[in-house]
Order: sequence, then C-alpha cells, then structure tokens
Amino acid sequence: MVIKEIIEDLTSKDVTRIRRSGLIIIRKSQDETEIEKIIPYKTQIEKATKDLVLGGVFASNNRFFQFPLEIIAFHQELNSLIGNQRKCTCQLYLSKTYESFNPEQEAENESIQLNHKINGTYTYDYEIECLKCGSRYYVSEREYHYTWWKWTKITETVEFTESGQKQIDDEAKFVLCSVATILRHEVVNINELNYQKERIFNFRMKLGTFKGTEYFEGQYGWTECFENLNKEIEQKLKIKNE
Ligand SMILES: [Zn+2]
Repeated sequence: MVIKEIIEDLTSKDVTRIRRSGLIIIRKSQDETEIEKIIPYKTQIEKATKDLVLGGVFASNNRFFQFPLEIIAFHQELNSLIGNQRKCTCQLYLSKTYESFNPEQEAENESIQLNHKINGTYTYDYEIECLKCGSRYYVSEREYHYTWWKWTKITETVEFTESGQKQIDDEAKFVLCSVATILRHEVVNINELNYQKERIFNFRMKLGTFKGTEYFEGQYGWTECFENLNKEIEQKLKIKNE
C-alpha cells in the first residue's frame, strides 16, 4: 500500500478518491503489518471526515471511510495487550458498517481459507475458515438491488454420524451447523426462515440425486438431523404467521 496516497485520498472529501483508498484498506483488513502503517494517521482521517456526508443510493458511501476507520481502530486495539488476547481480525467480517466482503476475494488472504462453495437458494453459500483462530463462517450471497454477502460465525454444532466420505460429510456438517446457528442466534424473519428451509431442501436433493450418496440419509440417520431443523423452522414460522 502507498500510505501517502491513501491518506491523501481519505482526507480529500472526494467520494471517488475516498472509495478507492477505502477499498484498499478494506481488502487489507486481515493484514496486521499493512494496517499498522496507517494507525498513526487515524486522527487525521477522523478529522477530515467528521460530519462528511457522501450520499449513496442503496447504501451510504460513508461506509468507505467509516469502515476503514473501524478497521484501523480494531487493529489499534489488537496491538494493546487486552485486545490481543481476545480478538481476531476475522471478527471484522461481522461488522454491519460494511456488508460487501466477497468471500472468494477474502480467501486470497493467507489466513483465510475457502472450505466450500455450494449452491444456495438462488445464489451461493460459502464456508470460510480463519486459519489464525479456527473460526468458521457461513457466508451467504444475497441480492438486494446489488450483491452483498451476509457473514455469520458458526457457533452451533450438530451431532451426526459421518459416512466416511470427507467432502460430503464436511458439506453436511456445514449445512447443519450453519442452519442451526442462524436459527438459534439470530432474530430471523419469515424470508430468512424460508431461505434456510430451502438450503436444507437443496442439500437433501443433492444427496438424493447423486449416485453413491442417495442412501446416506437413511444409512447414517441424517434424515432425523434435517427433520429436527425443519421442525425448528416450522415452529418459528408458525409463531411469525400467528
Ligand atoms: Zn480469526
């Protein structure tokens, strides 16, 4: 990164320049060495962007300076002893300030690994793993006027019998644990519930139609795991519809 240029852009009050350099910082969010170089300029950027309103049609362009500032502040805290013990840079993926973290681009980071990319409902679902801390994320591609990605840290585990075919076991684990996480840790609306229901359906279709996996559900008792989640979804849907 050319620090001088980035600082000049971010303090320019010009939307195109702020966006350009803001995105460079965002792309480096996982890189401690690079972000560290900008920490000394944090106050300067804050002053230049104070009360700045950049407009934006579907999302405010202010995110192109607000989120870089959030990243810098995060790394600054990480440098302190207390921050270092509890935090990992991958937590930045959960920020609501910026929802355009493309999982495939992020997987170009040394510390970020793309485990799975599978067909979701209309779009793709990704499992991303942070190699620094071992956290796994369910990343869902969404369309709403523009493409964005919803990142959720997978915190639930669902016990199931493995088939011994690693790829499909890993995918099953990903689907089960991510759906369970969404259901138990997020305030979900009807759309989201149907979305998750569809994911389970799609994965079961995939299992059922591929030669070699068509009997897995019965053979390894996976039907019960899927049905338990479906039951949870139906219960929540029933409450919503009442
Ligand atoms: Zn991490």
